[in-house]
Amino acid sequence: MVVPGILTSDGAGVNLRRIIGSPQLNMLDPFLLLDEFGSNNPEDYICGFPPHPHRGFETITYMLNGKFHHKDSTRNEGYLTDGSVQWMTAGRGVIHSEMPEQTDGLVRGFQLWLNLPKNKKMIPPYYKDIPAVNIPRVEFPGGITKVIAGKFMGVKGPGQPKTGMFYYDIKLQSQKELYIPIIDSWNAFFFVYEGTIIINKTVERDQLAVLNIKGGCLLKAGGLGAQFIIVAGKPLNEPVARGGPFVMNTREEIMQAINDYKNGILVK
Ligand code: MN
Repeated sequence: MVVPGILTSDGAGVNLRRIIGSPQLNMLDPFLLLDEFGSNNPEDYICGFPPHPHRGFETITYMLNGKFHHKDSTRNEGYLTDGSVQWMTAGRGVIHSEMPEQTDGLVRGFQLWLNLPKNKKMIPPYYKDIPAVNIPRVEFPGGITKVIAGKFMGVKGPGQPKTGMFYYDIKLQSQKELYIPIIDSWNAFFFVYEGTIIINKTVERDQLAVLNIKGGCLLKAGGLGAQFIIVAGKPLNEPVARGGPFVMNTREEIMQAINDYKNGILVK
């Protein structure tokens, strides 16, 4: 299945491309949402995401270009720069703000929401900034992979997900191939942000492909090469109740989260 993502807006009027979490692809267990934000026009994002709450999942923000100021209710403050990752576990509750800044006129990146299993939804919040230099780069014939989480060719990434998953950013040269092993029961997707990838069909720039394969997948770059993120994870197979910035297992737990937020006890 190939999904183009839809152009939408969130936060204080940030224009973005919603790729997972849209009507076409509501979720891909354990992934709840994938947004690509990116623009040369500061008006598309400069008001950012002023303070807002989360509960019940993790957000992984990966900046290809540009910077991101982060501040949260656990007094964590971060400054994401080009090529870095912020790994935030909302757990039982966090209130944070996310404010983008350009580098040389550019802001581009991804935010992925990774669900937490039922027994970990109310764990204490956790936060880690991963600078670009701490993200290993693995060179192979025809390309290079940045390992954000999981293991690639024996090299482990710095991300510490609470469930089984991997997250790579891969650059493949023109016409080069790469085989990526994927555990049979895991759900997997890739999103092309430059060039094209050929599997059984051509996946264009700004398209996401859900992989429906056993064992792994053979990816080939098109004539202009390709840059893409590929992510896979073990499905939780648990009920999902969504309420905007809260993702729990039942409607009642969502109502509880809304009440806790209103009463100022979400983050205590
Ligand atoms: Mn947020």
